[in-house]
Amino acid sequence: MPEVTESAVRGVLETVMDPVTAKSVVASGMISGIATRGGHVAVTLEVDPSRGPSLEPLRLACEQAVRAMPGVLSATAVLTAERAAPAPPPMPAERRVRSGPVHRSGAPGGGRIEVPGVKHIIAIASGKGGVGKSTTAVNLALGLAAIGVATGLLDADIYGPSMPRMLAVTEKPESADGKQLKPIERYGLRTMSIGYIVNEETPMIWRGPMVSSALEQMLRDVQWAELDVLVVDMPPGTGDAQLTLAQRVALSGAVIVSTPQDIALVDARKGLNMFRKVAVPVLGIVENMSYFVCPKCGERSEIFGHGGAHEEADRLGVPFLGEIPLHLDIRTTSDSGHPIVVAQPDSPHAQAYKNIAGRVWKQLTAKQRGPRAAPRIVMR
Ligand code: ADP
Repeated sequence: MPEVTESAVRGVLETVMDPVTAKSVVASGMISGIATRGGHVAVTLEVDPSRGPSLEPLRLACEQAVRAMPGVLSATAVLTAERAAPAPPPMPAERRVRSGPVHRSGAPGGGRIEVPGVKHIIAIASGKGGVGKSTTAVNLALGLAAIGVATGLLDADIYGPSMPRMLAVTEKPESADGKQLKPIERYGLRTMSIGYIVNEETPMIWRGPMVSSALEQMLRDVQWAELDVLVVDMPPGTGDAQLTLAQRVALSGAVIVSTPQDIALVDARKGLNMFRKVAVPVLGIVENMSYFVCPKCGERSEIFGHGGAHEEADRLGVPFLGEIPLHLDIRTTSDSGHPIVVAQPDSPHAQAYKNIAGRVWKQLTAKQRGPRAAPRIVMR
């Protein structure tokens, strides 16, 4: 299998012509990044945002040209408009957190990504992978829907999209007008995931700018409206890509998921600091895998020293939103595409997610009282 090099990819892209400038995408300076790994190629095209969806054929032509190269297993081309619309400094929190009709495009905030018709965008984040962030995002979104909140769920965890599996989605999103994708409806949620578009098994190489541009497309080019809350399952960790997302998206707030172990809490602190850095209010911390409930006898064991996240939340001055036990049913239901809030709606676990959803919703709709809007809610 021939090795696919960056310069070979560039060479092939020299044959892809932009009909507007009559120059190749390389000659017109559009190529801002090429990443290759083991036959998987990702290309970023820096474009003029005013050309909008008319650039889709060019993006596809780039993908097709690269895919046809010997040794290429997958090719992804993404459009970005980073240079043309640089991210502005974070705007003050009071402009972002409000309970009226909120995220209008073109609203004050310049380059911040807002979604017309969506009142609140919230991020579900974790300091590291494997703590149950996606499980929490799905069940929290379903919990919001269960309490009557019009909710969408965007799987922005593009390194490891899990919504196709967790929501048993096998169909591809459709587009009525060729411009915007229709979200896939599941269990009363409007959902979108990069995993609906590309194969879940295809490993993808993403670099920071690509992550934010892919997310930007999933926010802007999907018919989300009208929604009260759009829950965004963030990529795990607190690297540059995550920071850029936190900064670029007009978030009403963030929920941090942590396990009780000390090490995970250290990571949770990093997550918290990341959002604080960009003036996004932290709505609170969820302690996942808080204690173990034996599926046979129901006995509760606090194997990770339960309660760490609650103490940490108190110490850091952020709300503690609730605890979710480590329970086999939570894993099996989400792995089989029927998350526990819909599979066992009357179970105590489903109730725990609904309680968390209620606390999040209460904060989002609470009257604005200052730059860090989230009022302190004490829950025991
Ligand atoms: P992350 O998004 O943080 O990487 P996931 O949500 O994908 O984590 O969870 C990792 C694994 O742990 C999955 O198999 C999931 O089903 C399981 N899991 C998550 N939370 C729980 C829980 N509270 N009880 C049992 N299993 C859980």
